[in-house]
Amino acid sequence: MWFGIISIFPEMFSSIIKFGITNQAIKKKILKIDFWNPRDYSKKNNRSIDDYPYGGGVGMIMKIEPLYLAIQAAKFFIKKKTKVIYLSPQGKKIDQKNILNLSLNKNIILICGRYKGVDERLIKNYVDEEWSIGDYILSGGELPAMVLIDCLVRLIPGVLGKIQSANEDSFFNGLLEHSQFTRPKKFLNHNVPKILLSGNHLKIKQWKLKHSLGKTWKKRPDLLKKLKLNKEEKKLLIDYQNKYKKNNLK
Ligand code: SAM
Repeated sequence: MWFGIISIFPEMFSSIIKFGITNQAIKKKILKIDFWNPRDYSKKNNRSIDDYPYGGGVGMIMKIEPLYLAIQAAKFFIKKKTKVIYLSPQGKKIDQKNILNLSLNKNIILICGRYKGVDERLIKNYVDEEWSIGDYILSGGELPAMVLIDCLVRLIPGVLGKIQSANEDSFFNGLLEHSQFTRPKKFLNHNVPKILLSGNHLKIKQWKLKHSLGKTWKKRPDLLKKLKLNKEEKKLLIDYQNKYKKNNLK
């Protein structure tokens, strides 16, 4: 997968380039990230890329021309079908389903806004999609772009050790993931659920599904409302709810 990043702060991306699964994906040549700095396309001696908003108001707006030229340069470089995304708080909110759809694209240009945002004419004419990482305002699009890259890259086969680890994550099937435990079996007076140590794969599978349903019911009932549970799932959830109500389990 290829990302062309348009940002006045390309150095910020060193955190995903140098660390974690994104770093490994780059080393394996599964992921490539290139940068275009709008300042390189400024017509001003001081490389400025922002100006005052028409109609007045506080703050500065990123000018259309340097961003337009940066997009053209990135497209010319890759010479393949490319989706142009502007990270914006006004965009559609990203969730795992959207991430799955976006992962079908091989080449994506990400525009990282700064200041009070970008000239609307750029969005209207040269941006394919606007995506938001949530209903809050960050000071730039670099962190949202990194969030998007990280989410997308972990879905590419060969990036994670076992692709199942992405398939079993929360949201993949509309539910939260069940609770997880690792060694030791006992810490102070806290024990790992016995069933997970039993070696009975069928019962373990059922336990995982039950706790996935139960956690979603407790923490994100909104997700549960969107699902149509089958007979077994309904039974497991009722089981969980009864036990929870009885023991006030965490
Ligand atoms: N004035 C803009 C508004 O109210 O819609 C916000 C501008 S924000 C301070 C600067 C840049 O940060 C935006 O152009 C965008 O690229 C990025 N940004 C801020 N919050 C974001 C979010 N929740 N999701 C994606 N990008 C965001």
